[in-house]
Amino acid sequence: EKMARAGLVAGNWKMHGNLEQNEALLAKVVAGTRALQNAGCAVCVPFPYLAQAGALLSATNVAWGAQNVSQHEQGAYTGEVSASMLTDLGCRYVIVGHSERRAYYDETSELVADKFRIAQSHGLTPILCVGETLAQREASETERVVAEQLDAVINTAGIEAIARSVIAYEPVWAIGTGKTATPEQAQEVHAFIRNRLASNNEAVAAKVQILYGGSVKANNANELFAMSDIDGGLIGGASLIAEDFISICLAA
Ligand code: PGA
Repeated sequence: EKMARAGLVAGNWKMHGNLEQNEALLAKVVAGTRALQNAGCAVCVPFPYLAQAGALLSATNVAWGAQNVSQHEQGAYTGEVSASMLTDLGCRYVIVGHSERRAYYDETSELVADKFRIAQSHGLTPILCVGETLAQREASETERVVAEQLDAVINTAGIEAIARSVIAYEPVWAIGTGKTATPEQAQEVHAFIRNRLASNNEAVAAKVQILYGGSVKANNANELFAMSDIDGGLIGGASLIAEDFISICLAA
């Protein structure tokens, strides 16, 4: 069943980079992923570098995207960036609902669902992040939390829309901590997500790529991506190191 789904590795640069470093990193990533065949590769860069990414990545195997988007079409929203601006800059992907945005910018599941919907209405592929905190895991609330985050999007955008998105399971306790979920821990939640989608629509559940994120490194990507419901990864820290990111892409 997994064979039917292509792999995908997306880098999440977060608030890192500058013109000079980006150019060197992207040149290496392009060269290192030239041989990729059955998997996709993408980088989600800070807004100011989308044009640079477009210039360096068009006609390569590497797609590009953003890390956030406004829930509004346009208007008096100082400092915000709209979905149509992202498509204008050639983005294919946009991350929505990253745990850092939920935690530091008070993004609720309803807001994330609105961002998901507007991104899709402009032809972008949202990468929807879901995941529990350590306290929630220890209180056995992982499934309740992930279900709530997922259901908010299904209720707003509809189950069919999930087929045109990517889901990223990112346990908050694994992000930037070096504490990767074990392949079994990750697989358990990925299967939960896929089963919950299947209870709405089996074809959508079978089709959607579900990425794992949280301290994915070159030395643990293989075992994670070998699990039946893990279709690739969303990579933070390791996406800033060309050799590491390339190895992870080749593992998908
Ligand atoms: P990390 O970040 O790979 O540095 O843990 C992943 C993410 O936040 O998407």
